[in-house]
Amino acid sequence: MSLEIEIAKNSGYCFGVKRALDIAENTLNKYRNKNAKIYCLGQIIHNKGVVEELSKKGIKFVDKEEDIEPGSIFIVRTHGMPPDIIDKLKSRNIKIIDATCPFVKNAHAKARTLSKRGYFLIIIGNKKHPEVIGIKNHAKGCQYMVVENLSDLDSIGKKEKIGVVVQTTQTLKNVQAIVSGLTKIGKEILVENTICNTTGNRQDAAKDLARKVDIMVIVGGKNSANTTHLAEISKKINKNTYHIENYKELKTEWLKDIKKVGISGGASTPKQDILEVKKFIENKF
Ligand code: SF4
Repeated sequence: MSLEIEIAKNSGYCFGVKRALDIAENTLNKYRNKNAKIYCLGQIIHNKGVVEELSKKGIKFVDKEEDIEPGSIFIVRTHGMPPDIIDKLKSRNIKIIDATCPFVKNAHAKARTLSKRGYFLIIIGNKKHPEVIGIKNHAKGCQYMVVENLSDLDSIGKKEKIGVVVQTTQTLKNVQAIVSGLTKIGKEILVENTICNTTGNRQDAAKDLARKVDIMVIVGGKNSANTTHLAEISKKINKNTYHIENYKELKTEWLKDIKKVGISGGASTPKQDILEVKKFIENKF
């Protein structure tokens, strides 16, 4: 039986991830012979394999800021970070190299502006995601709330002015539903659509492919928000959607008696991981 395999358009690294990884490589090259320690708090991008590779090359990934030694180099992850943590690191003579995606920085700036202008800030996004934690810290001192879904709006109460910013990887559908709910709570609603376009384009391409194939394989970190959303979106169209981190998680029974497989990957998924999935399927069938 011949099995057809198609990779969705716009799969793999986005601009922000490529940029962050270039910054990491350049930093490693620049400080290689200077005996400097290079740190990152949390994962620079949400991909285990990439983080392991960078660890081998010399970047120390830590979970607590106290583990970062004074006088060292510190790379800010793609998802951005709360400004008070960065200030604390600077005060300990730690050199900051900022790999925050410019689109995430845009969401920081919009949150600050809305707060200064007296809006009650709504951040639409995942409460525990580092990007959302960073955004809310940029709006410090003002009233804000992180909203994941419509039911979160029940506890807000009436407001005069509501300003909205959005985690870059949110789906438009979720944002539209929440904004529609906000119109019943606030008199004035100002929405800054900070969803990243590359996310939308990737989601559209995955949707198109999910309609044409028997199964969809979504490759990427399980802790990656955009990869997880991609899998959710695909599953709504094609129930035979599987989210895997690499080819080793592929199960041959998923591929039994099917004619066409679609593959897509999140913004933090190396092209290589997607090609390995394709190769594995080709070799098996
Ligand atoms: S998905 Fe968009 S916002 Fe997120 S890192 Fe990539 S380019 Fe930046």
